[in-house]
Amino acid sequence: MSAPRPPVLPQPLPRKESTMYLLAANENPYPPLPSVAEALTEAAGRVNRYPDRSSAQLTDRLADRLGVPAGQLALGAGSVGVFQHLLQSFVREDGDEVLYAWPSFEAYPHLTDIARGVSVRVPLGPGAVHDLDAMAAAVGEHTRVVIVCNPNNPTGTTVPGADLERFLDRIPAGVLVVLDEAYREFVTDPLSADGASLLPGRPDLVVVRTFSKAYGLAGLRIGYAVAHEPVAARIRAAVVPYGVNSAAQAGAVASLDAEAELLARVEELVKERERTALALADLGLAPARSEANFLWLGLGDRAAEFGAACAEAGVAVRAFPGEGVRITIGTPEANDTALAVAAAFAPRS
Ligand SMILES: *Cc1c(COP(=O)(O)O)cnc(C)c1O
Repeated sequence: MSAPRPPVLPQPLPRKESTMYLLAANENPYPPLPSVAEALTEAAGRVNRYPDRSSAQLTDRLADRLGVPAGQLALGAGSVGVFQHLLQSFVREDGDEVLYAWPSFEAYPHLTDIARGVSVRVPLGPGAVHDLDAMAAAVGEHTRVVIVCNPNNPTGTTVPGADLERFLDRIPAGVLVVLDEAYREFVTDPLSADGASLLPGRPDLVVVRTFSKAYGLAGLRIGYAVAHEPVAARIRAAVVPYGVNSAAQAGAVASLDAEAELLARVEELVKERERTALALADLGLAPARSEANFLWLGLGDRAAEFGAACAEAGVAVRAFPGEGVRITIGTPEANDTALAVAAAFAPRS
Protein backbone atom coordinates (compact mmCIF):
# COMPACT_ATOMS: atom_id res chain seq x y z
CA MET A 1 0.00 0.00 0.00
CA SER A 2 2.94 2.32 0.63
CA ALA A 3 4.57 1.99 -2.84
CA PRO A 4 3.74 4.85 -5.22
CA ARG A 5 1.26 3.77 -7.80
CA PRO A 6 0.56 5.11 -11.26
CA PRO A 7 -2.79 6.91 -11.33
CA VAL A 8 -5.19 4.31 -12.70
CA LEU A 9 -8.70 5.43 -13.30
CA PRO A 10 -11.35 2.93 -12.29
CA GLN A 11 -12.96 1.25 -15.26
CA PRO A 12 -16.48 2.48 -15.87
CA LEU A 13 -18.87 -0.39 -15.36
CA PRO A 14 -22.12 -0.85 -17.20
CA ARG A 15 -25.18 -0.28 -15.06
CA LYS A 16 -28.75 0.81 -15.28
CA GLU A 17 -29.10 4.47 -14.37
CA SER A 18 -31.46 3.80 -11.49
CA THR A 19 -29.51 0.90 -10.02
CA MET A 20 -27.30 1.57 -7.06
CA TYR A 21 -25.96 -1.32 -5.05
CA LEU A 22 -26.33 -0.38 -1.39
CA LEU A 23 -23.27 -1.71 0.41
CA ALA A 24 -22.93 1.16 2.86
CA ALA A 25 -25.07 0.31 5.89
CA ASN A 26 -24.47 -3.41 6.53
CA GLU A 27 -28.05 -4.22 5.65
CA ASN A 28 -29.22 -7.64 4.54
CA PRO A 29 -29.59 -7.50 0.75
CA TYR A 30 -32.51 -9.92 0.74
CA PRO A 31 -36.12 -8.72 1.10
CA PRO A 32 -38.34 -10.20 3.82
CA LEU A 33 -39.33 -13.85 3.39
CA PRO A 34 -42.94 -14.32 2.20
CA SER A 35 -43.95 -15.59 5.66
CA VAL A 36 -42.49 -12.48 7.32
CA ALA A 37 -44.11 -10.16 4.76
CA GLU A 38 -47.41 -11.90 5.45
CA ALA A 39 -47.09 -11.33 9.20
CA LEU A 40 -46.37 -7.66 8.51
CA THR A 41 -49.43 -7.32 6.28
CA GLU A 42 -51.54 -8.82 9.01
CA ALA A 43 -50.01 -6.45 11.57
CA ALA A 44 -50.81 -3.52 9.26
CA GLY A 45 -54.51 -4.31 9.62
CA ARG A 46 -54.28 -3.77 13.39
CA VAL A 47 -52.33 -0.55 13.66
CA ASN A 48 -55.34 1.39 14.97
CA ARG A 49 -54.55 -0.43 18.25
CA TYR A 50 -51.58 0.21 20.51
CA PRO A 51 -48.91 -2.47 20.47
CA ASP A 52 -48.52 -4.88 23.37
CA ARG A 53 -46.53 -2.65 25.69
CA SER A 54 -44.56 -5.51 27.17
CA SER A 55 -43.95 -7.29 23.83
CA ALA A 56 -44.96 -10.44 25.72
CA GLN A 57 -45.10 -12.86 22.80
CA LEU A 58 -41.75 -11.82 21.37
CA THR A 59 -40.13 -11.69 24.81
CA ASP A 60 -41.31 -15.23 25.55
CA ARG A 61 -40.06 -16.50 22.21
CA LEU A 62 -36.66 -14.91 22.74
CA ALA A 63 -36.43 -16.20 26.29
CA ASP A 64 -37.15 -19.70 24.98
CA ARG A 65 -34.64 -19.34 22.20
CA LEU A 66 -31.90 -18.13 24.56
CA GLY A 67 -32.80 -20.40 27.47
CA VAL A 68 -33.20 -17.54 29.96
CA PRO A 69 -36.18 -16.25 31.97
CA ALA A 70 -38.12 -13.40 30.33
CA GLY A 71 -36.97 -11.10 33.14
CA GLN A 72 -33.46 -11.20 31.72
CA LEU A 73 -34.53 -9.43 28.53
CA ALA A 74 -35.05 -5.80 27.59
CA LEU A 75 -36.34 -4.85 24.14
CA GLY A 76 -35.92 -1.61 22.25
CA ALA A 77 -36.46 0.15 18.94
CA GLY A 78 -33.37 -1.34 17.36
CA SER A 79 -30.32 -2.12 19.41
CA VAL A 80 -29.51 1.59 19.33
CA GLY A 81 -32.80 2.04 21.19
CA VAL A 82 -31.63 -0.52 23.75
CA PHE A 83 -28.30 1.33 24.06
CA GLN A 84 -30.11 4.59 24.62
CA HIS A 85 -32.17 3.14 27.47
CA LEU A 86 -29.15 1.43 28.95
CA LEU A 87 -26.95 4.54 28.92
CA GLN A 88 -29.76 6.67 30.26
CA SER A 89 -30.07 4.29 33.20
CA PHE A 90 -26.39 3.81 33.96
CA VAL A 91 -24.85 7.20 33.14
CA ARG A 92 -26.11 9.29 36.03
CA GLU A 93 -23.57 11.82 37.25
CA ASP A 94 -21.59 14.60 35.60
CA GLY A 95 -18.36 13.13 34.32
CA ASP A 96 -19.59 9.51 34.10
CA GLU A 97 -17.61 7.81 31.38
CA VAL A 98 -18.49 5.41 28.59
CA LEU A 99 -15.44 3.58 27.30
CA TYR A 100 -15.20 1.98 23.88
CA ALA A 101 -12.69 1.15 21.15
CA TRP A 102 -12.08 3.36 18.16
CA PRO A 103 -12.82 3.14 15.31
CA SER A 104 -15.99 1.36 16.31
CA PHE A 105 -19.75 1.80 15.81
CA GLU A 106 -20.42 5.41 14.88
CA ALA A 107 -23.54 5.58 17.04
CA TYR A 108 -21.57 5.20 20.31
CA PRO A 109 -20.32 8.82 20.50
CA HIS A 110 -23.79 10.16 19.73
CA LEU A 111 -25.57 7.82 22.15
CA THR A 112 -23.05 8.74 24.86
CA ASP A 113 -23.59 12.45 24.17
CA ILE A 114 -27.37 12.25 24.43
CA ALA A 115 -27.03 10.36 27.73
CA ARG A 116 -24.72 13.23 28.88
CA GLY A 117 -21.84 10.83 29.31
CA VAL A 118 -18.18 11.40 28.53
CA SER A 119 -16.73 9.28 25.72
CA VAL A 120 -13.36 7.63 26.31
CA ARG A 121 -11.97 6.03 23.17
CA VAL A 122 -9.22 3.43 23.11
CA PRO A 123 -7.55 2.87 19.71
CA LEU A 124 -7.81 -0.58 18.17
CA GLY A 125 -4.65 -2.65 18.38
CA PRO A 126 -2.73 -4.55 15.68
CA GLY A 127 -4.92 -6.19 13.04
CA ALA A 128 -7.67 -3.65 13.81
CA VAL A 129 -8.71 -5.81 16.81
CA HIS A 130 -9.90 -4.45 20.19
CA ASP A 131 -6.92 -3.75 22.45
CA LEU A 132 -8.47 -5.30 25.54
CA ASP A 133 -5.40 -4.71 27.74
CA ALA A 134 -5.43 -1.00 26.93
CA MET A 135 -9.17 -0.88 27.50
CA ALA A 136 -8.92 -2.58 30.90
CA ALA A 137 -6.13 -0.16 31.82
CA ALA A 138 -8.31 2.81 30.80
CA VAL A 139 -11.08 1.87 33.26
CA GLY A 140 -11.09 4.39 36.08
CA GLU A 141 -13.28 5.63 38.92
CA HIS A 142 -15.63 7.47 36.52
CA THR A 143 -16.11 4.54 34.13
CA ARG A 144 -19.73 3.38 34.20
CA VAL A 145 -20.04 1.46 30.95
CA VAL A 146 -17.54 -0.33 28.72
CA ILE A 147 -18.67 -1.33 25.24
CA VAL A 148 -17.02 -4.17 23.33
CA CYS A 149 -18.30 -4.38 19.76
CA ASN A 150 -17.78 -7.99 18.74
CA PRO A 151 -17.45 -8.35 15.74
CA ASN A 152 -16.35 -4.74 15.56
CA ASN A 153 -18.02 -2.34 13.16
CA PRO A 154 -16.34 -1.09 10.88
CA THR A 155 -13.46 -3.59 10.92
CA GLY A 156 -15.32 -6.93 11.25
CA THR A 157 -12.68 -8.24 13.66
CA THR A 158 -13.48 -10.33 16.75
CA VAL A 159 -11.79 -10.88 20.07
CA PRO A 160 -10.98 -14.48 21.08
CA GLY A 161 -13.29 -15.79 23.78
CA ALA A 162 -10.43 -16.58 26.17
CA ASP A 163 -9.11 -12.99 25.89
CA LEU A 164 -12.57 -11.63 26.48
CA GLU A 165 -13.00 -13.72 29.63
CA ARG A 166 -9.65 -12.53 30.99
CA PHE A 167 -10.73 -8.96 30.22
CA LEU A 168 -14.08 -9.39 32.00
CA ASP A 169 -12.25 -10.76 35.03
CA ARG A 170 -10.19 -7.56 35.20
CA ILE A 171 -13.13 -5.12 35.11
CA PRO A 172 -14.12 -3.95 38.60
CA ALA A 173 -17.55 -4.93 39.95
CA GLY A 174 -20.19 -2.31 39.26
CA VAL A 175 -18.80 -1.32 35.85
CA LEU A 176 -21.21 -2.53 33.20
CA VAL A 177 -19.66 -4.30 30.20
CA VAL A 178 -21.85 -4.31 27.10
CA LEU A 179 -21.07 -6.78 24.35
CA ASP A 180 -22.57 -5.47 21.13
CA GLU A 181 -23.26 -8.60 19.10
CA ALA A 182 -25.11 -7.02 16.17
CA TYR A 183 -23.28 -9.39 13.80
CA ARG A 184 -23.18 -12.51 15.99
CA GLU A 185 -24.98 -14.70 13.43
CA PHE A 186 -22.23 -14.12 10.84
CA VAL A 187 -19.43 -15.35 13.11
CA THR A 188 -17.83 -18.61 11.98
CA ASP A 189 -14.58 -18.53 13.96
CA PRO A 190 -15.06 -21.11 16.75
CA LEU A 191 -12.61 -19.19 18.97
CA SER A 192 -14.76 -16.05 18.96
CA ALA A 193 -16.75 -15.49 22.14
CA ASP A 194 -20.49 -16.08 22.37
CA GLY A 195 -21.66 -13.39 24.78
CA ALA A 196 -24.76 -15.17 26.02
CA SER A 197 -22.67 -18.14 27.22
CA LEU A 198 -20.56 -15.79 29.36
CA LEU A 199 -23.53 -14.40 31.31
CA PRO A 200 -23.74 -16.96 34.14
CA GLY A 201 -21.75 -15.66 37.09
CA ARG A 202 -21.16 -12.23 35.53
CA PRO A 203 -23.76 -9.84 36.96
CA ASP A 204 -22.33 -6.76 35.18
CA LEU A 205 -22.39 -8.20 31.67
CA VAL A 206 -24.98 -7.21 29.05
CA VAL A 207 -25.30 -8.74 25.58
CA VAL A 208 -27.04 -6.61 22.96
CA ARG A 209 -28.39 -8.13 19.73
CA THR A 210 -30.56 -7.01 16.86
CA PHE A 211 -32.97 -8.18 14.17
CA SER A 212 -31.56 -5.54 11.80
CA LYS A 213 -28.73 -7.44 10.19
CA ALA A 214 -28.90 -11.24 9.91
CA TYR A 215 -32.70 -11.24 10.21
CA GLY A 216 -33.11 -8.46 7.66
CA LEU A 217 -35.50 -6.24 9.63
CA ALA A 218 -33.47 -2.99 9.80
CA GLY A 219 -36.47 -0.90 8.78
CA LEU A 220 -38.67 -2.22 11.59
CA ARG A 221 -36.34 -1.20 14.46
CA ILE A 222 -36.15 -4.08 16.90
CA GLY A 223 -33.29 -5.18 19.12
CA TYR A 224 -32.78 -6.58 22.62
CA ALA A 225 -30.48 -6.93 25.58
CA VAL A 226 -29.85 -10.07 27.66
CA ALA A 227 -28.50 -9.49 31.16
CA HIS A 228 -28.99 -10.54 34.76
CA GLU A 229 -32.44 -9.57 36.02
CA PRO A 230 -31.48 -6.45 38.04
CA VAL A 231 -29.60 -4.99 35.07
CA ALA A 232 -32.34 -5.93 32.58
CA ALA A 233 -34.91 -4.33 34.91
CA ARG A 234 -32.87 -1.13 35.05
CA ILE A 235 -32.73 -0.99 31.25
CA ARG A 236 -36.48 -1.64 31.01
CA ALA A 237 -37.11 1.14 33.53
CA ALA A 238 -35.87 3.67 30.95
CA VAL A 239 -37.89 2.47 27.95
CA VAL A 240 -40.36 4.71 26.22
CA PRO A 241 -43.89 3.28 26.56
CA TYR A 242 -44.95 1.56 23.31
CA GLY A 243 -41.47 2.14 21.88
CA VAL A 244 -41.45 -1.26 20.16
CA ASN A 245 -44.23 -1.11 17.59
CA SER A 246 -46.64 -3.90 16.68
CA ALA A 247 -45.21 -4.53 13.20
CA ALA A 248 -41.73 -4.90 14.69
CA GLN A 249 -43.03 -7.40 17.23
CA ALA A 250 -44.91 -9.39 14.57
CA GLY A 251 -41.98 -9.31 12.14
CA ALA A 252 -39.54 -10.48 14.79
CA VAL A 253 -41.78 -13.36 15.90
CA ALA A 254 -42.30 -14.43 12.26
CA SER A 255 -38.53 -14.27 11.76
CA LEU A 256 -37.93 -16.56 14.72
CA ASP A 257 -40.47 -18.93 13.15
CA ALA A 258 -38.48 -18.80 9.91
CA GLU A 259 -35.08 -18.87 11.56
CA ALA A 260 -33.73 -21.83 9.60
CA GLU A 261 -34.52 -20.15 6.28
CA LEU A 262 -33.01 -16.87 7.43
CA LEU A 263 -29.86 -18.51 8.70
CA ALA A 264 -29.46 -20.26 5.32
CA ARG A 265 -29.28 -16.77 3.82
CA VAL A 266 -26.71 -15.82 6.42
CA GLU A 267 -24.66 -18.82 5.30
CA GLU A 268 -24.79 -17.57 1.71
CA LEU A 269 -23.61 -14.15 2.83
CA VAL A 270 -20.77 -15.71 4.80
CA LYS A 271 -19.69 -17.63 1.67
CA GLU A 272 -19.79 -14.38 -0.27
CA ARG A 273 -17.77 -12.68 2.46
CA GLU A 274 -15.05 -15.30 2.16
CA ARG A 275 -15.05 -15.17 -1.65
CA THR A 276 -14.91 -11.37 -1.71
CA ALA A 277 -12.22 -11.21 0.99
CA LEU A 278 -10.03 -13.67 -0.94
CA ALA A 279 -10.47 -11.73 -4.16
CA LEU A 280 -9.52 -8.47 -2.43
CA ALA A 281 -6.50 -10.14 -0.84
CA ASP A 282 -5.44 -11.42 -4.28
CA LEU A 283 -5.57 -7.82 -5.46
CA GLY A 284 -3.18 -6.87 -2.67
CA LEU A 285 -5.80 -4.89 -0.77
CA ALA A 286 -5.56 -6.99 2.41
CA PRO A 287 -8.99 -6.72 4.05
CA ALA A 288 -9.06 -7.14 7.84
CA ARG A 289 -10.14 -10.65 8.98
CA SER A 290 -13.93 -10.21 9.13
CA GLU A 291 -16.49 -12.31 11.00
CA ALA A 292 -19.36 -10.00 10.05
CA ASN A 293 -21.29 -9.14 6.86
CA PHE A 294 -18.83 -6.48 5.73
CA LEU A 295 -15.14 -6.04 4.92
CA TRP A 296 -12.74 -3.31 6.00
CA LEU A 297 -9.99 -1.98 3.76
CA GLY A 298 -7.54 0.17 5.69
CA LEU A 299 -6.81 2.39 2.69
CA GLY A 300 -5.79 5.45 4.72
CA ASP A 301 -5.40 8.46 2.44
CA ARG A 302 -6.98 6.63 -0.49
CA ALA A 303 -10.23 5.80 1.29
CA ALA A 304 -12.21 8.77 -0.05
CA GLU A 305 -10.95 8.15 -3.59
CA PHE A 306 -12.00 4.48 -3.42
CA GLY A 307 -15.44 5.47 -2.10
CA ALA A 308 -15.89 7.93 -4.95
CA ALA A 309 -14.81 5.32 -7.51
CA CYS A 310 -17.38 2.89 -6.11
CA ALA A 311 -20.13 5.52 -6.28
CA GLU A 312 -19.14 6.23 -9.88
CA ALA A 313 -19.57 2.51 -10.63
CA GLY A 314 -22.97 2.38 -8.94
CA VAL A 315 -21.98 0.96 -5.56
CA ALA A 316 -22.54 2.85 -2.33
CA VAL A 317 -19.87 1.86 0.22
CA ARG A 318 -18.95 3.59 3.46
CA ALA A 319 -15.72 5.57 3.22
CA PHE A 320 -14.08 6.88 6.39
CA PRO A 321 -11.80 9.55 4.91
CA GLY A 322 -8.19 9.11 5.96
CA GLU A 323 -8.92 5.72 7.53
CA GLY A 324 -10.54 3.14 5.34
CA VAL A 325 -13.56 1.82 3.50
CA ARG A 326 -16.23 -0.54 4.77
CA ILE A 327 -17.93 -2.66 2.14
CA THR A 328 -21.11 -4.51 3.11
CA ILE A 329 -21.46 -7.99 1.63
CA GLY A 330 -24.45 -7.97 -0.70
CA THR A 331 -25.63 -10.16 -3.55
CA PRO A 332 -22.89 -11.79 -5.68
CA GLU A 333 -23.61 -9.25 -8.42
CA ALA A 334 -23.17 -6.31 -6.06
CA ASN A 335 -19.97 -7.76 -4.61
CA ASP A 336 -18.59 -8.35 -8.10
CA THR A 337 -19.23 -4.73 -8.97
CA ALA A 338 -17.28 -3.61 -5.89
CA LEU A 339 -14.51 -6.06 -6.82
CA ALA A 340 -14.27 -4.61 -10.33
CA VAL A 341 -13.69 -1.18 -8.81
CA ALA A 342 -11.11 -2.67 -6.46
CA ALA A 343 -9.31 -4.35 -9.38
CA ALA A 344 -8.93 -0.99 -11.10
CA PHE A 345 -7.70 0.51 -7.84
CA ALA A 346 -5.35 -2.12 -6.52
CA PRO A 347 -1.63 -1.48 -6.18
CA ARG A 348 0.25 -2.76 -9.26
CA SER A 349 3.06 -5.21 -8.80
C1 LIG B 1 -25.99 -2.10 12.79
C2 LIG B 1 -25.46 -2.10 14.16
C3 LIG B 1 -26.33 -2.13 15.23
C4 LIG B 1 -27.78 -2.32 14.99
O1 LIG B 1 -28.51 -1.22 15.16
P1 LIG B 1 -30.09 -1.37 15.19
O2 LIG B 1 -30.45 -0.18 15.97
O3 LIG B 1 -30.43 -2.64 15.86
O4 LIG B 1 -30.53 -1.33 13.77
C5 LIG B 1 -25.81 -2.17 16.51
N1 LIG B 1 -24.50 -2.20 16.72
C6 LIG B 1 -23.64 -2.20 15.70
C7 LIG B 1 -22.19 -2.30 15.98
C8 LIG B 1 -24.09 -2.13 14.40
O5 LIG B 1 -23.23 -2.11 13.40
